[in-house]
Amino acid sequence: MGRTVSGTTRVAGVFGYPVHHSQSPAMHNAAFRELGLDCIYVPFNVHPDNLEAAVRGIRALDLVGVNVTIPHKEQVIRFLDRVSDEARLIRSVNTIHWSAGILSGYSTDGPGFVRALEAAGKSAGGSKAVVLGAGGSARATVYALITEGAEVTVLNRTYSRAVELAEFLDAVLRTKAVRPIGLDDARAREAVLEADLLVNCTPVGMHPQTDAQPIPSEWLHPGLLVYDQIYNPLETNLLKAARAVGAQGANGVKMLVFQGAISFEIWTGRTPPVEVMEEAVLAGLRACP
Ligand code: NAP
Repeated sequence: MGRTVSGTTRVAGVFGYPVHHSQSPAMHNAAFRELGLDCIYVPFNVHPDNLEAAVRGIRALDLVGVNVTIPHKEQVIRFLDRVSDEARLIRSVNTIHWSAGILSGYSTDGPGFVRALEAAGKSAGGSKAVVLGAGGSARATVYALITEGAEVTVLNRTYSRAVELAEFLDAVLRTKAVRPIGLDDARAREAVLEADLLVNCTPVGMHPQTDAQPIPSEWLHPGLLVYDQIYNPLETNLLKAARAVGAQGANGVKMLVFQGAISFEIWTGRTPPVEVMEEAVLAGLRACP
């Protein structure tokens, strides 16, 4: 790894269960090395029964902070001193900062997604977006899209969960901006045909089930930017189908990198070396099965 851990080294990390597939240690350690910071980032496999004790451990061990991933993003909120408005509204924390005796929680998933869209040349504001899925990532993504000024349709396999997400965000944002549709409803195809942005927030097509695709290729068209939040494989079947019809496509790597970059900035106050972080993620993914 080419770094020395000494008596002054500060520790950051990620709480997840399981956590062994995380690309975050490689990404953050590359960033710490690049900026010559005396910090190290480690994975912590935290069983849900131990979450409260693990959070107490951040204080006791004087960690810099941690990322929080599945399944702890919602449960962790009750153990923190402060939570950002966005994280509180979407009930999800993916970044904890320990500073001046206070544990603060943030959600960087939505802002990371918006930056990834911008990197693909697309502004969320004014776009007609279709979001596939109604789980945790969809909640952060739809919230970010609506607050940026997009019009959003949520397509989900389980219609009641799409309705739940739409009602939840409409209540939080005091709008009627989210339209829920079931994936098997005839209006689903129409919604995609009318959209200029399609975001996949389901795991359909992810390794090892890489043959799967969340919607039929016939729904895609050249006017779409297809953002697939999956990053393993780098080109999912959905992205291949998008390319085949002349639509623009982007994978989830940049979202992963930007959400991490925003966490890094919260912890260190330094400008994150985004390109170095992306290279570390790509190297890690190339080494994956
Ligand atoms: P989640 O909370 O478990 O939600 C999964 C959603 O996908 C649900 O709405 C579920 O529908 C739907 N779904 C699952 N299997 C399906 C199938 N076979 N057919 C149709 N729909 C299906 O998961 P999440 O945390 O939101 O994550 C979703 C994906 O986003 C994952 O692949 C994750 O790796 C990716 N992600 C990427 C980043 C990044 O930085 N690039 C960040 C976060 C998440 P039902 O409601 O019908 O069950």
